[in-house]
Amino acid sequence: MLYKDLVEVYQDLDSTTKRLEKTDILAKFLSKVGDEEPELLPIVTLLCLGRIFPTWSEEELGIGSKLLMKAISQAVGVSPEDVENRMRDTGDIGEAAEELYLKKSQVTLFSRPITIGKVHRNLVKMAEISGNRAQYKKIDYLMELLSSASPAEAKYITRTVLEELRVGVGEGTIRDAISQAFNIPKEVTERAHMLTNDMGLVAEVARMEGGEGLRKLTLKPGKPVKPMLAQLSPSITESVGEMGWAICETKYDGIRVQIHRHGDKIDIFTRRLENISLALPEISDYIEKSLPHEDFIVEGEIIASRDGKPISFQYMLQRVRRKYEIDKMVSKIPLTVYLFDVLYYHRPVLDEPLQERRKTLESIVKVLEGKLELSAQVKVTLEEIGKAQDLFETSIKGGHEGIMIKDPHAPYMPGIRGKKMLKLKAEPETLDLVVVGGTYGNGKRAHLIGSYLMALQDEDNQLKPLAYAATGLDDQTLLELSEMVEPLIISKKGRQVKIEPSIIMEIAFSEIVESPESETGYSLRFPVVKRIRNDLGLDEIDTLERIESIFRNSEKT
Ligand code: ATP
Repeated sequence: MLYKDLVEVYQDLDSTTKRLEKTDILAKFLSKVGDEEPELLPIVTLLCLGRIFPTWSEEELGIGSKLLMKAISQAVGVSPEDVENRMRDTGDIGEAAEELYLKKSQVTLFSRPITIGKVHRNLVKMAEISGNRAQYKKIDYLMELLSSASPAEAKYITRTVLEELRVGVGEGTIRDAISQAFNIPKEVTERAHMLTNDMGLVAEVARMEGGEGLRKLTLKPGKPVKPMLAQLSPSITESVGEMGWAICETKYDGIRVQIHRHGDKIDIFTRRLENISLALPEISDYIEKSLPHEDFIVEGEIIASRDGKPISFQYMLQRVRRKYEIDKMVSKIPLTVYLFDVLYYHRPVLDEPLQERRKTLESIVKVLEGKLELSAQVKVTLEEIGKAQDLFETSIKGGHEGIMIKDPHAPYMPGIRGKKMLKLKAEPETLDLVVVGGTYGNGKRAHLIGSYLMALQDEDNQLKPLAYAATGLDDQTLLELSEMVEPLIISKKGRQVKIEPSIIMEIAFSEIVESPESETGYSLRFPVVKRIRNDLGLDEIDTLERIESIFRNSEKT
């Protein structure tokens, strides 16, 4: 199948913002690929998400925008500076490439047809190259594609190389398209994806074995699972009352991790399914010493502490992003992992009730004090509700965030934010929103962005600006933030900038108010940036639905 056919699908997707229309376009294409060239189906599914490998894969192309600009400049015969200038004007490397190609095609005549298979093969080969002169060899494979590409093909090849497809298709849309194309209930496709996180595999099994096949897909150590998420608890009494009795645990404020052992390998994944094992050698060491040498998946929270008190979550983020001098960090600040769940031990156990899973966890963990522990917990009935309140108070005094209230009868529900796991925090509600714009400050701070325009996502995953937030951050973080933002600036107009959506921040506020003239219908009073949330993905930012629900709750009180 020709790459041109896929490009036409990208263009159709780009021409509508409606999720249902996008789903329709994708469903038709997936079913066509399934009929005509089924072996391409997993590849095309990932390419429609702008990916070559599943999110958690350790393989990466290793081509940055500088190198890509150089390749484009060679392909069209202009200087790299010309490409960079075009890129500045358009704010998008794909569009810059397309424009330059269009100019060039007035001189040269034809592009040669390239197939989807060829594009994919070359991209995979690029990822496989390492070592001496790797960059040059990678560029050869890229040039092979770019020199045969049409302007529109060049646009999408370059965007795919940077994994920024920008056709407004998220995992939810692709999942719905697979359901529609192969006639499978949405919840079956969704669960298969939450368990495997491999959309290509889900599409392939959906076509070949239908819903029955998808139901048989399950988790496997080495492949990360979407974590189960928590809703806010209205109050301890109400939540425990609804559950009958509850397991209450300390809510640690660190980094959530899923730890997999498969054979001799230990992998540590974040909640965004990134493999961070290399950054946390001491945690692998504790796991090696504390748990059996058998296949398992356990889950927990890692916190850093000084003199027995947890230190900032931001520090943990720096630790997991660290690539160099890791040894120095290991000895500097000790980490503790608090395990709270097990999803696999010899076999998948996620469908067992929490109380059974906890027993399994306790039976396989040897506690290493201060290094690897089990989450502190109490079992609470309505008659003994004080036990939960005590845990809440000791947790807060210990420098933790609050408590989790969990239904002991519930299975583990990957990717679901339901009522079976609740959280109660001492601090008021905050929102996780993405930066889409900003305003430079005045006077001494004229070189720094002083307030950020923050957006939420609506039910179609479209971003909608909600409010400008002032930066309640210290000078150092503010500077770091400005450095992160600089390359993402799309356009400037006076002191205002438009920023490519990528940086997610947690915003504190005093109140949500109705604002009929704004796009969302709401605005925030006194919004302030609390911290940067590098541990969240764009699809995890807060939704219009959540803002509406907080607003309605606040009206009740
Ligand atoms: P928050 O900002 O409140 O942490 P979130 O969106 O990051 O919210 P939620 O799923 O809403 O995540 O809240 C649950 C989070 O609390 C988990 O993702 C996990 O990182 C953390 N956590 C800390 N201690 C526990 C525990 N004992 N059991 C489960 N989760 C815990």
